[in-house]
Amino acid sequence: MIIPIDRLLAESNLGREQALQVDRFIEMMLETNAHTNLTRITDPEAILTDHILDSLSILDTVRMNEGSSLCDVGCGAGFPGLILKIARPDLSVTLMDSTGKKLAFIDSVIDDLGLEGARTLRARAEEAGRTKLRESFDFVTARAVADMKVLAELCLPLVKVGGSFVAMKSAAAGEEIAKAKPMIGTLGGRVAHTEAAGKGLVVRVAKEKPTPRRFPREYKDIVK
Ligand code: SAM
Repeated sequence: MIIPIDRLLAESNLGREQALQVDRFIEMMLETNAHTNLTRITDPEAILTDHILDSLSILDTVRMNEGSSLCDVGCGAGFPGLILKIARPDLSVTLMDSTGKKLAFIDSVIDDLGLEGARTLRARAEEAGRTKLRESFDFVTARAVADMKVLAELCLPLVKVGGSFVAMKSAAAGEEIAKAKPMIGTLGGRVAHTEAAGKGLVVRVAKEKPTPRRFPREYKDIVK
């Protein structure tokens, strides 16, 4: 066992089988991390707090109907998307990242754990938002990918009207979130709920209207 399983069981709603799947995922992450950079955090207690429980905190604050579709933009080594898939096997989860080597690792975990209804997608979010994936997901999540204003333009075009964009932000991100509100409104969203959860804040943005066709723009224009 790599992570403190008893603590994971005590501090989450996971069953023993799911906790063991998480442990196997972390074991594979640390093995791969020896030659491919996936995470700076390697202490098991810290992995539990900073990666696993932080990812799970989304489920304490956002209600997701059975069978919802979810895309994790900039999933990296799989946080929060892969943890959410283990916790909620009913979700249909797309793990999106622009970096292939991280997705190759995630593919190996999906295969090892036999996770059905999880797939990886190598893409830039702002490009995916101009394909048939536009407005196709019930939920789009993102952790540690970009400033809230930039992130909203990467993620909101991918969310169905009636769905939600869920951003995991640091506890100090209040001003960043406030500054992003006008752009969020332009993109068809509204900050519906912000709650302290996990390591920081979980921000739920409700998609209330279609995103205007001119968004998302090219990355260089988004960050300007
Ligand atoms: N979400 C993971 C976590 O919290 O551990 C990874 C965070 S990592 C700091 C940021 C990830 O976002 C990187 O893997 C990077 O390749 C990806 N990324 C950055 N911009 C992106 C974009 N426009 N579209 C897709 N992925 C992107």
